[in-house]
Formats: sequence, structure tokens, C-alpha cells
Amino acid sequence: MINVKVVVCLLLSLCAVAWSTPVVRPLPPTKPTSNDTAAISPFRNPVFDMKLTPEQMRSGVIDERYRWRNGFIVHPDRGFNQNEYSVINDALYELSQHLCIQVLMWPQDSNPTGDYVEIMRGGSGSGCWAWVGRLGGRQDLNLQFDGCIYKHIVQHECIHALGYYHEQSRPDRDDHVNILWNNVIPDTSHNFDKMDDTTTFGVPYDTRSIMHYDSYAFSSNGQPTILAKDGSTVGGNSITGNDIAKLQRMYNC
Ligand SMILES: [Zn+2]
Repeated sequence: MINVKVVVCLLLSLCAVAWSTPVVRPLPPTKPTSNDTAAISPFRNPVFDMKLTPEQMRSGVIDERYRWRNGFIVHPDRGFNQNEYSVINDALYELSQHLCIQVLMWPQDSNPTGDYVEIMRGGSGSGCWAWVGRLGGRQDLNLQFDGCIYKHIVQHECIHALGYYHEQSRPDRDDHVNILWNNVIPDTSHNFDKMDDTTTFGVPYDTRSIMHYDSYAFSSNGQPTILAKDGSTVGGNSITGNDIAKLQRMYNC
């Protein structure tokens, strides 16, 4: 009998915790663009911004284990101020408009459970980065407070967490862009590796993808490191139609 009481009490207290910290959807933006509130320039490129498990180095985004099945769920760190929080909210709201899975946010002051992305407010030098795909339980996504809290960077990192690598990692990238290796900072060339095991979901290569590095990423000398085959520059800072198509195919929308 005592054991039953203990179990019931435990269940009730768990329910109380769950009821007191509801997960909510991001709200529509209340102002034209929250990027206006940010005072510091964004990084030109999210540098070293993907983290991969040893297994993912082999299997990539094809493996459905890494998909979010019960919604893409995030928890913004308590440290984000109101302006920073609204940048994150607005980025997620826009992303949610293109996805058929729910995008949900734990309130900042809650203690999340289950699978979720902890969006951390990182200190100077911590960078913008995310793990690729759903790993299970808490997984971190870092936004350095001075340089990463911009709508397109939040979306870029969240799309990593949803399961995407960089556009220039696609197996077919050499048909669309040239890597100018002589201009790449030595020891950073791995950032231009192709991921041969990934799938393109039949969506055309997009040099303006929000997941594409820009033309001067990891440049050692101010000269371009990636150019389109026609010599034009590459990179984008907003979600494109092809980005949406890939996300929708990955999640069977
Ligand atoms: Zn990235």
C-alpha cells in the first residue's frame, strides 16, 4: 500500500511539473524584423558549427533515427534577454511555417524533459554550432551572444539540428561549385569535405541555400574559397524554396 502511495505521489508530482511548464509554439513576430534589435554584426559564417557523433560520420542524415518524430522541441537558455529571445522565437516561428512537424518551445524558466534542443547563450569565442539531427534527450545548440543571435543563424543551426549538413557537403557539389583550395586556411580544409553518404532528396543544388557557406568562408587571404561554376559568389542568409523542399521531403510533409 505504501508503495502504491509513493507511486501515486510520484506520478502526481510529475504531472504537476508537466502542467506547470507547458510546451508552447513560437508566436508570430510582433514587429517587422527582430534582426533590427541586434547591435552586433553576425559572423560571416558559422565557423566549425556542426558536431557529429562517430556514427554520423558514416551514416549521415539518411538514417531516420535522427529525425524528430514528436515535434522539433527547443528550450532557450534562461540567459537570453527579451530582444534575444524574440530573435529566436521569430526564427523558429518562420521555420515552423514551412514544416509539417510541430515546432515547440519550453519556457525559458522551465526544466525540460524528453528530447529537446538546449539553445545556449554562449560567451565570446564559443561560436555558433549544433549537433546534426535528433540525438535523444538534451542536445546542445550554441549561440555566442555577440555574433550568433540573428534570425538566419538561428535557422541555420536549427536546420542542422533537424538533420541537415551544409549544402556544399552534398555529393554532387563539384558539379555546381569550385573550391579554391589555395585560398583556404591551412588545417581548415576539412570544412569543405563532401558527405558522400547523404541524400539530396532529389532537390536541386542551391548556391543560395541558408545552409551554404559564403564565398569567403575560411579564406586565408581575403580571396574567395568557393565560387559557382559561372564565377558568381555563393551563400545565402534566408531560407530558400529549395531549403523548404528538402526539409519537407526529409519529414515526409
Ligand atoms: Zn552550419
